[in-house]
Amino acid sequence: MNLIFLGPPGAGKGTLAARAVEILELPHVSTGNIFRAAIAAQSPLGLKVKAIIDAGRLVDDETTVELVRERLARDDVKKGYILDGFPRTIPQAEALARFSAVNRVVNFDIPDSGVLERLGGRRVCRKCGHNFHTIFDKPEKENVCDHCGGEVYTRDDDKPEAIQKRLEVYRAQTAPLIDFYRRQGLLVDVDARPAVDEVVENFKKALGL
Ligand code: AMP
Repeated sequence: MNLIFLGPPGAGKGTLAARAVEILELPHVSTGNIFRAAIAAQSPLGLKVKAIIDAGRLVDDETTVELVRERLARDDVKKGYILDGFPRTIPQAEALARFSAVNRVVNFDIPDSGVLERLGGRRVCRKCGHNFHTIFDKPEKENVCDHCGGEVYTRDDDKPEAIQKRLEVYRAQTAPLIDFYRRQGLLVDVDARPAVDEVVENFKKALGL
C-alpha cells in the first residue's frame, strides 16, 4: 500500500508515521528527515537547503521530486511506503503520479491553535529523528533520545517566526492538495486533535484496519 500523510506542520504526521510503520510494516519516507540528515552530514544537498528550511520555506520542487524519485526506486518500498511531508505542492503531486501510484492519502486535520501548541513544544532527536514534546511526550532523560541516545533538540524551523511562515506556506501551497486528492477519491480525513493513541485508532478505522 502506497500511503501519503498530509496535514499542516505540527499535525503529528511524523509521530503517527512512526506508529503506522509498526502497524503496516511499511517504511517511513520523510522528506523533512532526509533533508535534516543531509544538513547534519553537511552534504552538498544539506548545504543547499539549510537556510531555506531554517526559514520555514519550501525547498524547490525539482530538488525535492528528484530526491523522492530516487528514494522510491529502492527495494524496500516494493510493498509500499508511508510518505510523510511529500508532496507539498500540486507540481510535486503531479510529478509523483508519473512515477508511483498512490493508493490512499490520509489528511490529518487540526486547527492552527493545536498546531502552535504542538510545534512550540516539539523536540527532535538529531540522530534518529524521533519526535518528543516538552509536555506530552518527554524523553526519560532530559535532552537524550530514549531510542538511540542521540541529542534531543529544538528544530530551527520550530521557532516562532518560522512556525508562522510554515503555516502560511502550508495554506498557500499544500492545502490545495486536499481537494486535488479528494477529487481523485483517494482522500481519507482523520481528526488529529486528540492524543496520539486515539488518533492512531481513528487512522486504523479510516483505513479499515
Ligand atoms: P517537515 O519535517 O516535513 O516539517 O519538513 C521540514 C522542512 O523541510 C520543510 O519546512 C521544508 O523546508 C522542507 N521540506 C520537507 N518536505 C518538503 C517538500 N515536499 N517540498 C519542499 N520542501 C520540503
